[in-house]
Amino acid sequence: MCGIAAYYARGDLSAANQVMLALYSQQHRGQESSGIAATNGKFLRLHKSMGYVKEIFSQDVLERLSGFAAIGHVRYPTRGSAILNNAQPYIIETLSGPIYAIASNGDIVNYEEVALELQSRGVHFTSTNDGELLGRFIVYHHEREGLEITEAIQLLMKRIRGAYSAVFLTRNNLYVFRDIQGFRPLLMGKVNDDIAVASESCALDILHATEIREVQPGEIIVITPNTAYDIPRSSSLFTSTVEPQHIHQCIFELIYFSRPDSYEFGEYVYEVRHKIGAKLASYDEFDADVVIPVPDSANFIALGYADAKKIPFHMGLIRNHYVGRTFIRPDQYLRDESVRQKFNPLKDFFQDKRIVVVDDSIVRGTTIRKIIRMIKRAGAREVHLRIGSPPVRFSCFYGIDTPTRQELIANNMTIDQIREYVGADSLKYLKIEDLRDCVKQPNNFCYACFNGEYPVPKHAYLRTSMEKEQI
Ligand code: AMP
Repeated sequence: MCGIAAYYARGDLSAANQVMLALYSQQHRGQESSGIAATNGKFLRLHKSMGYVKEIFSQDVLERLSGFAAIGHVRYPTRGSAILNNAQPYIIETLSGPIYAIASNGDIVNYEEVALELQSRGVHFTSTNDGELLGRFIVYHHEREGLEITEAIQLLMKRIRGAYSAVFLTRNNLYVFRDIQGFRPLLMGKVNDDIAVASESCALDILHATEIREVQPGEIIVITPNTAYDIPRSSSLFTSTVEPQHIHQCIFELIYFSRPDSYEFGEYVYEVRHKIGAKLASYDEFDADVVIPVPDSANFIALGYADAKKIPFHMGLIRNHYVGRTFIRPDQYLRDESVRQKFNPLKDFFQDKRIVVVDDSIVRGTTIRKIIRMIKRAGAREVHLRIGSPPVRFSCFYGIDTPTRQELIANNMTIDQIREYVGADSLKYLKIEDLRDCVKQPNNFCYACFNGEYPVPKHAYLRTSMEKEQI
């Protein structure tokens, strides 16, 4: 998973600063690396590095990126190793210098096929990252085949399968587009006469953006120096669409990934989570003494449970906010260690209580097993675990990091075995039909990680033989 942002200013050269703020609000979408590319009309400049946004983008660095338009990216690796070479944005050089840059969020399913085709026509790649493939596809068809950039993007939407929400920058123009199935969110808004784009609306809020709207699946938006920005569409703002196929937005964004203060896929994230909690509450006939979330991702789900049951909601586990997302840590040892460092139970709070613990999902089972052990040690009499999603049984190929089926606990154990493994007195997952009830347009979502119904056939496009074995 990753986060992207873009800014097109109509009066000053501080676009990179605005992009930095937008990336900072989206740090939860990736902590591995971050980068910004900016244009002043003459040059495109790039700065990217491993680490957190605020550590990378000092005032000095931002001044060097001075320009009226900029794009940026925060990354956590789903494919490709966690090295700077795979960080985004990508700058693409031509004989006239570095004049294109791209940042994207999502995973391309037919990467290998498209990359081989481009290579056979003499295109050279410097990484294995999806963003580079998108950028080189556009530049090849624009520079060598003579297509307009918008036509190249339309062709890209026909040829490249899978998930990509992307921003593409030239020396003067910004192109914003989203794959035809709309897997990942992408929104834009106005900041006075400027235009801001981000993966999540919380990043637009921090820029005081107004008239926020979603970039539609298959939509291409072009922002040039002369266009007066006008939402949703005007003749001066070139807008074109590729016929959207059936839409498959990622339901996991709403369950877990996005921030609760974001709006996306036509939904308020916190509201969906609250509804999920109420559904979980409807499964239980007993009343616990207290409901606690695994903070922060399950806060609103637990609140929904408590409100429906009319029992107390408490923050019984305290989270160290300086430990990042434990799941995103690259290996199991780091994940185990950071769970222990991340949560601590309130003293004397759990003594002899019947607790409902709510988490958003169980993937490998690492986090919740340790947490339940902690709560039991703190004196809880009973621990009932409620999960705000159906069991995750299938890998995601569209940008969420659930790499192999072998690692997914629900693929290897029955629900009762999981209950025993994590040490809970009872365990209930959200039913998929109840999850569908929590959104307004349930048919517009991808549920592949729960039911294995992949909207883009995975077997046809597997990148490596290792991935084939994992299915
Ligand atoms: P695990 O310990 O592997 O069972 O991880 C489950 C926890 O990680 C859940 O409590 C979620 O909050 C979080 N999580 C679930 N899926 C993901 C994901 N794809 N990327 C990052 N974090 C996740």
